[in-house]
Amino acid sequence: MEILFLGTSSGTPTKQRNVSGIGLIESLGKNWYLIDCGEGTQQQILHTNLSLNRLSAIFITHKHGDHCYGLPGLLGSSGMQRRTRPLTLVAPGAVYDWLLSTQTITELYLPFELNFIPVENLPQIEIGQFTTTTIQLSHRVPSYAYSFTERYVEVTLDTQSLLATGIPKGPQWGKIKNGIDVVHHGKIYTATDFILKPRPPRNIIICGDNNNPELLKDTCANCNVLVHESTYAKDLAQKAGHVGHSYSTQIASFAEGLSIPNLVLTHFSTRYQKDSKASCSIDTIRKEAQLIYKGQLYLAEDFMHLLLKKSGKLLHIQKTSAKGYAATTRGYLPSNL
Ligand SMILES: [Zn+2]
Ligand SMILES: [Zn+2]
Repeated sequence: MEILFLGTSSGTPTKQRNVSGIGLIESLGKNWYLIDCGEGTQQQILHTNLSLNRLSAIFITHKHGDHCYGLPGLLGSSGMQRRTRPLTLVAPGAVYDWLLSTQTITELYLPFELNFIPVENLPQIEIGQFTTTTIQLSHRVPSYAYSFTERYVEVTLDTQSLLATGIPKGPQWGKIKNGIDVVHHGKIYTATDFILKPRPPRNIIICGDNNNPELLKDTCANCNVLVHESTYAKDLAQKAGHVGHSYSTQIASFAEGLSIPNLVLTHFSTRYQKDSKASCSIDTIRKEAQLIYKGQLYLAEDFMHLLLKKSGKLLHIQKTSAKGYAATTRGYLPSNL
């Protein structure tokens, strides 16, 4: 499973950061999902290897413009690229109403089916390789987190025990892997005796705007990665609570309390500069969070690409492709440079 950040700014874009948009990429194949679609998301996608045709579903966390104003443009472009494959949209009902009126007023024709699912009615949905559930958050308007759990975990054979039976590698092993018992030299071997306990399915939780991380407590128990906003540093804690956002030490304390192994902060206020020497620097948020949270911490940047391995380890993917280097002009520097 991979996460590719397309926009990491709160409210308005900056030269380095676009507004909210996160790509979640399946581990097999090229299908992917988009969580939030702020204005300009389709332009950001052009700087990546993601294809609009392989987009399986869009999940919108809430109706604020920095999370959904990019929808009509992205859908329109998909249509112009002659997409015919149906697309699922999970969003608040209000976002869909707005989209429909925009579609009507601007005479936007989509040559593909848009399957709308109101997030308000979504206890659980299975799309592609993920089972997705929602968690209601606390913000100025209804806001949601999406929890993505992989549906399929590979079957691993107990090769040591199989070798000891003398069953030769080949079709018989294949049958056992598919759960079929086999006969070898007149003896029946039960498939389940040779299948190892499966690893836990990977889980990533991506949150909308939220000023109360405690609401995620029950769903974060087996979470590998939590992607959560930290719009502010702790000196603006009071303001954060007032405007429905979180701050550095608040989310760090929450993640540390639950021993969440990987925490990715995003949706930063435009006041925080990239320059660590600036009077208001993004490094302040990093340092404050690191003082409390002892797991693997990332501060998201546009085009930051993370890989969640089967082991649960979260890695920063190095960018070496031509498209990756194109991204450097937009503020992201590959860490191998
Ligand atoms: Zn926002
Ligand atoms: Zn918001």
